[in-house]
Amino acid sequence: MSDHISIHAGSCLCGGVRLRITGPLAPVQVCHCVSCRKAQGTPFATNIPVDTAALQLQDDHGLVEEYESTPGKLRAFCRRCGSPIYSRRPDTPGVLRLRAGLLDEPVASAPDAHAFVGSGAGWWPRPDDGLPCFEGARPPGPLTRQG
Ligand SMILES: [Zn+2]
Ligand SMILES: [Zn+2]
Repeated sequence: MSDHISIHAGSCLCGGVRLRITGPLAPVQVCHCVSCRKAQGTPFATNIPVDTAALQLQDDHGLVEEYESTPGKLRAFCRRCGSPIYSRRPDTPGVLRLRAGLLDEPVASAPDAHAFVGSGAGWWPRPDDGLPCFEGARPPGPLTRQG
């Protein structure tokens, strides 16, 4: 988005967990799966994959708690305020999926696709924002825009 090194900062709701990301942000992945809905309490989660080498996570009070929501997938949250922080898979080390709502504005990223639209909440409209929609998981890696 710009040619200088960007720094993004963010925090959980109570401010006990703070984070900084150095370098450009990946696109936001929107996930409508049942687990994300329950974990966030919202119709979808907005996640940014972040290289752990680019992320500084400051948790001075030991507030980050990880919950294994499905085997091999850990969802981290602040145990004081309940903010979801990230998810990670120990079998794919080096990357966390940060919850985009933690970031302070402005955020130099934008959504690039919807995943698990096929199991989306019946009470929320199907996405019609022109982004690619996948009934299940999004394919790995960057998406190529068609037309
Ligand atoms: Zn907190
Ligand atoms: Zn999900």
